[in-house]
Amino acid sequence: NSSLHELDPDVAAAVDAELHRQQSTLEMIASENFAPVAVMEAQGSVLTNKYAEGYPGRRYYGGCEHVDVVEQIAIDRIKALFGAEAANVQPHSGAQANAAAMFALIKPGDTILGLNLAHGGHLTHGMKINFSGKLYNVVPYHVDEKTNLVDMEEVERLAKEHRPKLIVAGWSAYPRRLDFAAFRRIADEVGAYLMVDMAHFAGLVAAGLHPNPVPHAHVVTTTTHKTLGGPRGGVILSTQELAKKINSAVFPGQQGGPLEHVIAAKAVSFKVAASDDFKERQQRTLDGARILAERLVRDDVKQHGVSVLSGGTDVHLVLVDLRDSELDGQQAEDRLHEVGITVNRNAIPNDPRPPMVTSGLRIGTPALATRGFQAEDFSEVADIIAEALKPAYDAEALKARVTALAEKFPLYPSL
Ligand code: PLP
Repeated sequence: NSSLHELDPDVAAAVDAELHRQQSTLEMIASENFAPVAVMEAQGSVLTNKYAEGYPGRRYYGGCEHVDVVEQIAIDRIKALFGAEAANVQPHSGAQANAAAMFALIKPGDTILGLNLAHGGHLTHGMKINFSGKLYNVVPYHVDEKTNLVDMEEVERLAKEHRPKLIVAGWSAYPRRLDFAAFRRIADEVGAYLMVDMAHFAGLVAAGLHPNPVPHAHVVTTTTHKTLGGPRGGVILSTQELAKKINSAVFPGQQGGPLEHVIAAKAVSFKVAASDDFKERQQRTLDGARILAERLVRDDVKQHGVSVLSGGTDVHLVLVDLRDSELDGQQAEDRLHEVGITVNRNAIPNDPRPPMVTSGLRIGTPALATRGFQAEDFSEVADIIAEALKPAYDAEALKARVTALAEKFPLYPSL
């Protein structure tokens, strides 16, 4: 029963170093967040020891009376949070949630419509070497070349032409809102299921700051660790009618024993997500992204070929367009890393540079909002980013400004 430091100093040192990295830099990867200590406590609990194949009240193992309580709490909380009829909280990740949902709804060889990866879609929405691209006949839809908004006319045209069994609406890199009602109308017209993957914006939906896809979709999948701010994992929400199919696609279709310790952590995060504090944090997340977009389209930045895709944002992220900049996505990511800001380079629609380099950056505000950033702090970080993307930049001075912000908002002071 030694501590981690006693038993395995090598792993402990790397964990400590990662804590220090998170504390001392500014995390702006749009898909990341900081889980509350209580969430990590649940995830690090004895529940990790328990096998519990099956569902609450119907397990294939003995001794499940306590994990049954935990899993039922998680199910009830997330159903209430999003107004869903049914929920499966067992998917180990967002990718597995999507795989299970697709297994439940369609057969290999069926046609699916999904947003093209380079236009903001996720790997599981039909990328060629992902399971989704290998198992299904994928017809990708795109964003409009001029507006950079999802082209609903194309979605409708492709749906009528290819008669998909499933339409996937959702994104990993898109700064605007989707029209779920329009997607559903098109799905109904061609007899397709509509699956919305709200992994990125689930926290905004929970806070009532983004339209809720649940009333429109047959199935809604999400991760629990992005804007939602919980442990890494996935969830599938559905109508009651589809619940049985979804459950059997997750177990035994896709997975064995559920991670009850992670499910406990999910339950805690769903409680947090129902709070007024969470709503206020999501509002700061949105405000921060808007401030960032505004400050990155100023003339002194624009003159160096930097702009913002679609001219702004309605969500928690900004897509920086570097097509006219001397900096490519990789160089820009490295610059920001140098000054202590973590982001990821991201292909943008019709990107002229190769996928490992790209001409874009995806910058998100959820983690900094969780850390406590207010509007003036987001203005400061936006200015630091703007300065760092100019040809002449003072790395040391910018790093000092980053450090001042990091110190203003201590992260995990009790750890
Ligand atoms: N769906 C969307 C829209 C995502 O952006 C992601 C992850 O980035 C996933 C699913 C997959 O989640 P995970 O990494 O937990 O498998």
